[in-house]
Amino acid sequence: MENTQQHKQMKLIEYGYYWNCATCGTENAYGLTEQEADDYIRDWEADNEDAVAEGETGEGACDWWYNVTAEENDAHIEDGECCWKCDTVAHRHTRTDKARWFDSMVDNLG
Ligand SMILES: [Zn+2]
Repeated sequence: MENTQQHKQMKLIEYGYYWNCATCGTENAYGLTEQEADDYIRDWEADNEDAVAEGETGEGACDWWYNVTAEENDAHIEDGECCWKCDTVAHRHTRTDKARWFDSMVDNLG
């Protein structure tokens, strides 16, 4: 039988954050590998020539999105990321206290 499964391990991220699986407690990584970050940065700079002309960089945009905004928005839940070890999809109850606080603050603004 052909083995089509990739060798399982936590994603090796260059940009991003870590979250713990609520089911098995394993640490997971959300974000971009070095190669993915290179692609993201190149695409961002190609799509944002005005911002680049003003001195912004793809690295800065990538860093801001994956290291700050994505964590505050629980991007791994929004994207339905699965735990690399047990394949459980990330749910709301895996949110960190900080993210809950952020969400309640946003709710109160409405
Ligand atoms: Zn798990």
